[in-house]
Amino acid sequence: MQLVDTHCHVDFHPFDDDREAVFERYSAAGGRWLVAVAVDLENAPRLFALAEEKANVYCSVGVHPNHEPRVEPTVPQLCELAAHPKCVAVGETGMDFFRHHVDREIQETRFRTHIRAAKRMGKPVIVHMREADADTMRILEVEGVEACGGIMHCFSSTWEIARQALGLGMSISFSGNVTFKRNETLREVAARIPEEALLIETDAPYLAPVPHRGKRNEPAFVCHVAECIAEVRGTTAEYIAELTCENARRRFGVTL
Ligand SMILES: [Zn+2]
Ligand SMILES: [Zn+2]
Repeated sequence: MQLVDTHCHVDFHPFDDDREAVFERYSAAGGRWLVAVAVDLENAPRLFALAEEKANVYCSVGVHPNHEPRVEPTVPQLCELAAHPKCVAVGETGMDFFRHHVDREIQETRFRTHIRAAKRMGKPVIVHMREADADTMRILEVEGVEACGGIMHCFSSTWEIARQALGLGMSISFSGNVTFKRNETLREVAARIPEEALLIETDAPYLAPVPHRGKRNEPAFVCHVAECIAEVRGTTAEYIAELTCENARRRFGVTL
């Protein structure tokens, strides 16, 4: 089985004690390469160092909608960082009204800045959307995200929103929460995503899929997301793994 975890945070501190073992388990599970996604710029040197050290680690540059940086990122600054040879995307960015600690206008300006940088660099944008569907979709549309495309990461919304995102050239990525018992509606959405737009991720260390729910998540567990999606689509985990692996290569321009 060949797998790609398109969104995880392997640079985060919960992995400090056993990061090597985490990478080994990922490879043993069929993991080919992964995207270590940025949430701030302060940590960019550390993220780049990890990507430089490991052939199968790619990264992104960006500031999470709920992060509070000392200064707001600018388009030239994001572009300069995104020029790194192992940087395959801009983000994660987007809109998050769940926790509300960053003002909506600030989130919107920051999100627009990221999309502009992604378009300028010709790299996909990684979108985080939580309880902010209408605003997120409006901004993606007015900023013309079709020019660079991107990924709706940890997708947890309706088919109607998925359809709109697909219309803007976005891929739809599912994480561990698609395996949660109560998320029957989300599984129905996952069953309807066109093959070429489907991606899988872990968002590790968060949101561990069943049967690891409640524990620290890690990239190797992306196989459980593949299994769950295969079941609702009436196919095999191997098929979903290969398909999403190929989709990830195309989306991020990775040849590994
Ligand atoms: Zn996120
Ligand atoms: Zn994330």
